[in-house]
Amino acid sequence: MKKATKCLNCGKHFTQGEQYCVYCGTKTQEMPFYPELDFGAEVYGPPPDIYILTCKKCGKRWESHEFGINRTKYCPDCGSEAYRTHVLY
Ligand SMILES: [Zn+2]
Ligand SMILES: [Zn+2]
Repeated sequence: MKKATKCLNCGKHFTQGEQYCVYCGTKTQEMPFYPELDFGAEVYGPPPDIYILTCKKCGKRWESHEFGINRTKYCPDCGSEAYRTHVLY
């Protein structure tokens, strides 16, 4: 049986170590954590859009590879909203 690490609020995947869901800002510590065994399944298909996100509150910067309608918006460290910059390669 596959176990996926997903936000219980919005159903998006999150990465171990993130304090907040980057899609909806829900605190991940309030959810049970299951090891992500199935993450590669989302990598196939068209290449992702790549964004640089910068947290408005704590200034954290990180890179987000996104597919289709998935749109990250929140800082994984503090849960605040982040600025998005589209990166074209
Ligand atoms: Zn979420
Ligand atoms: Zn932050």
